Amino acid sequence: MKIDILASGSGGNCISVSSGSTVILVDAGIAKTKIEKRLLEVGIRPDEIAAIFVTHAHADHIKGLPLANKYRIPVYAGEGEWREIHGVDDELRRNLEHNDCVTVSLDILFVENFRTYHDAFDPCGYTVEVNGDMKLSICLDTGHVDSDMLEAMADSTHIIIEANHDPDLVEASDYPDSVKTRILSDIGHLSNQQTADALSRLIRGRGERIYLTHLSKSNNMPELALATVEAALRRKGFVNGKHYFCEVV
Ligand SMILES: [Zn+2]
Ligand SMILES: [Zn+2]
Repeated sequence: MKIDILASGSGGNCISVSSGSTVILVDAGIAKTKIEKRLLEVGIRPDEIAAIFVTHAHADHIKGLPLANKYRIPVYAGEGEWREIHGVDDELRRNLEHNDCVTVSLDILFVENFRTYHDAFDPCGYTVEVNGDMKLSICLDTGHVDSDMLEAMADSTHIIIEANHDPDLVEASDYPDSVKTRILSDIGHLSNQQTADALSRLIRGRGERIYLTHLSKSNNMPELALATVEAALRRKGFVNGKHYFCEVV
């Protein structure tokens, strides 16, 4: 399995996952032409994409969906999210119920979705399992992580998770109060500590790869996000670079 995080953050999110000759995208939140360019940079032709899976219909996750029409790629999203997704041809739309499992190809066996908590209609995260021995969990915008999500992500070998903000930096920011309240709510975004807590319940020190994504430019710092996660995992006896590998994207 090859994972390429083509874009991360409130400016746009797009992840490609490849195995054998199969490529899927999770989110397409940068302009179509940028996705095409970044795919080519990592050695993937856009016409190789077998499916696009959408976490939720905010612009930083769906901006580049016109890519689907151009290359005739089916787009999967929670049923409610289609209320906010426009411009994808009818015959390419696929509805996901909670805990749906999609078999994309013989190379990428299963993509399964799990519910997340965000100010959208039907937001979700995804797990991608390849040949039973690799499991990637993708958990982007969510205000909190509950036991169902932890169960869905259990035994992951690779985890892409948002570490959005430091609550003190949000409070001190010049964002309007309504925006601060939204970010910090349980249908907003994960703080570094929430992400660290979730990871400390998921990581078993088996060399898991962790990618911290969707950091807020104004309310977070890569060093702070990483230090918070490392401190939480050190309490379990796990050291970055030895028991697991964590980086900020
Ligand atoms: Zn969002
Ligand atoms: Zn987002």
